[in-house]
Amino acid sequence: GYVGIHSTSFKDFLLKPELVKAIEHCGFEHPSEVQHECIPQAIMGNDVLCQAKSGMGKTAVFVISILQQIKVSDDKPEVLAVVLCHTRELAYQICHEFTRFAEFMPNVKVGNYFGGLDIKKQRQELKDNTPAVVVGTPGRIKQLATEKALNLATVRHFVVDECDKVLEKLDMRGDVQDIFKKTPHEKQVMMFSATLSQDVRPVCKKFMSNPMEIYVDDEAKLTLHGLVQHYVMLQEDEKNRKLTDLLDALDFNQVVIFVKSVQRAKALNALLNECNFPSVCIHRGMDQKERINRVNIVINYDMPVTDETHGNGADTYLHRVGRAGRFGTKGLAITFVSSKEDSEVLNAVQERFDVDIKPLPSTIDASTY
Ligand code: ADP
Ligand code: MG
Repeated sequence: GYVGIHSTSFKDFLLKPELVKAIEHCGFEHPSEVQHECIPQAIMGNDVLCQAKSGMGKTAVFVISILQQIKVSDDKPEVLAVVLCHTRELAYQICHEFTRFAEFMPNVKVGNYFGGLDIKKQRQELKDNTPAVVVGTPGRIKQLATEKALNLATVRHFVVDECDKVLEKLDMRGDVQDIFKKTPHEKQVMMFSATLSQDVRPVCKKFMSNPMEIYVDDEAKLTLHGLVQHYVMLQEDEKNRKLTDLLDALDFNQVVIFVKSVQRAKALNALLNECNFPSVCIHRGMDQKERINRVNIVINYDMPVTDETHGNGADTYLHRVGRAGRFGTKGLAITFVSSKEDSEVLNAVQERFDVDIKPLPSTIDASTY
């Protein structure tokens, strides 16, 4: 089931002003489900083991909670946080995320250490310009720590991102263990992954004490805030006309139009192509995976139904419109309502997700979605 939709804002976490400002600068408004679940615990210093699908914003969980907690001393720079991951690309991305969120914390330096970079330069940087946050791959971090270029005795936060990938390779796991042993006993440990098999969970937990375990499996646990939602009351035979009018009038990157059967999808696709809309038909029976990642508008040409085979229509609605409004970024959802059953599902959606869906106005301002 769903935990429901929350209207929390990053402001509710009571973060440092310089962090709040950076979060705003990054364009983050509403926390994702995983951020909503983890950040309050993580900023208290608790250990966290977290599984959530890719793209749900796991990076910001540890970046924000580390930046919230660390206190950098100006006269004695030391390494306070270590973040390990399995690829250079990921190390680079994580480093970038730290840099963005530390924009207004000029004394928080972030260093990136992975194989392939000039190790002499890295030794020098660790000595002359010691970063508070060290991000890197286990092999290189272990090497620097072993030769004492990197002092881990001051570490207070230890993170493994994509921990299943890091820990499943035995050589990497060994490196992580060696690095871990060089850090003080008293510290916060956080691990994140998109997949955490039953086998790897106990391996992760060996590094932690009484961790908070968070498993967000449900893609639909996305906030609906920021998503503009409307309905159009019309007759079945008015749908095509209304749809083409909307497609002419609206400003979109990509639109997804949901219908209730493969047959109807094919027919509608043919019609749209005839009208020169560059549409493609996607349905369950195909293995082709079209890229629909820039969707800002979802149209429910047919309202989801509630019955034995389809389950709960309100859930289906959330799944569908969630594509247009990830993380509460802007998006627009328009739903055609043409029967009493459709109205019932619409009411169920409003009740369940505590949203108010209004009739489509004659014009809508493109800046709102
Ligand atoms: P994951 O590690 O769970 O796969 P990422 O941390 O890489 O996900 O986040 C995916 C993308 O979503 C990134 O570009 C990130 O900046 C963005 N993002 C994360 N959280 C939010 C949010 N609350 N609001 C807006 N964008 C977000
Ligand atoms: Mg990630």
